[in-house]
Amino acid sequence: MYAVTIIILFSLGAVFGSFLNVLIHRLPLKQSILFPASHCPACRKPLRAVDNIPILSFILLGGRCRYCRYPIPYRYIIVEIINALLWVALYNQFGISPEFVLYTVLFSILIVCAYTDLDHYRILNSVVFAGFLIALFLIILLDSKHLKSSVAGMLVGALFMLFWAAVGKLLFNKTALGMGDIKLTALIGLFTGPQNILLIMLLAFLLASFIGITSALINRRLKDQRLPLAPFIAVASIIITLYGNQLIQRYLELLS
Ligand SMILES: [Zn+2]
Repeated sequence: MYAVTIIILFSLGAVFGSFLNVLIHRLPLKQSILFPASHCPACRKPLRAVDNIPILSFILLGGRCRYCRYPIPYRYIIVEIINALLWVALYNQFGISPEFVLYTVLFSILIVCAYTDLDHYRILNSVVFAGFLIALFLIILLDSKHLKSSVAGMLVGALFMLFWAAVGKLLFNKTALGMGDIKLTALIGLFTGPQNILLIMLLAFLLASFIGITSALINRRLKDQRLPLAPFIAVASIIITLYGNQLIQRYLELLS
């Protein structure tokens, strides 16, 4: 029974990941997410159902369009696999529960924002605002006893980021944090509550500084480039929501 559940969730996660690919690709270009149906970007031939199966079609076609052999970006299969694995990991941590539903939504938002930030240096307002509406709806529907802590998480996230934006402005006289980062953090706080959002942002800043310093050392040209923050916020959120409690437990055991 467990194996069947895992296979079903992995497949559904991959299908949903496929939809996230469409959002990542089309939303920044202001294209409709429903029409036209999936097609090859090079020869524009519509994909047949058999060529549109998440993960499998990419492997069977050798990563190329069936008609014109145009290479399909690895991004597509990577997003599908990541999302499928995240759904399985969430099930292993939370079972089928309100948390499972809420965090699958959160992780979807994070994947889309991470990639649009990587591609275009943008976190789309449409994604964040839709996220707020869906989150509030789901929390009231499934988890209303935590509504207070969710709202507290949102405020803590927003204030934490506004504080560092102000510090950055004072110290370096430039805006290091975009409004998109601030809104996204407030939204994540709504999902995770006040305690986890602080851990998430500490970890995100730590990862971003580490990668930023390392890449500036390796490649001097990168030094003046702005580092998109959303991918780090996404990775940190995923680690803390899935394993935050275990990490804190381990840490406390080390101390005692
Ligand atoms: Zn083609």
